[in-house]
Amino acid sequence: MNDSLPVRSTAEVFAYMELNPCGVCGETIFTEELACLAGGTDEYRGACAGCGRWRTMSFQDQETGVGGPSRIIDAGQWWLLAHKRSNGAMGG
Ligand SMILES: [Zn+2]
Repeated sequence: MNDSLPVRSTAEVFAYMELNPCGVCGETIFTEELACLAGGTDEYRGACAGCGRWRTMSFQDQETGVGGPSRIIDAGQWWLLAHKRSNGAMGG
């Protein structure tokens, strides 16, 4: 069974990670290693930077040139990320 998430770019992977923090402590950083599995699946895994809980996320590379919106991040979440980034830029 393949429960990996369909993505088209690395940027989409990291955006998804930022939008889906640790369920225990809320930390978004956990990646310690990237494993390239069979069938084009990339698995990011490692201990949570906040609480040490082991986390894994699997992503399936989609064919390049496939159009349309992201299948794992909706428009509202993209807006949220953009809003966070712009606030961070203004705060310095
Ligand atoms: Zn955590």
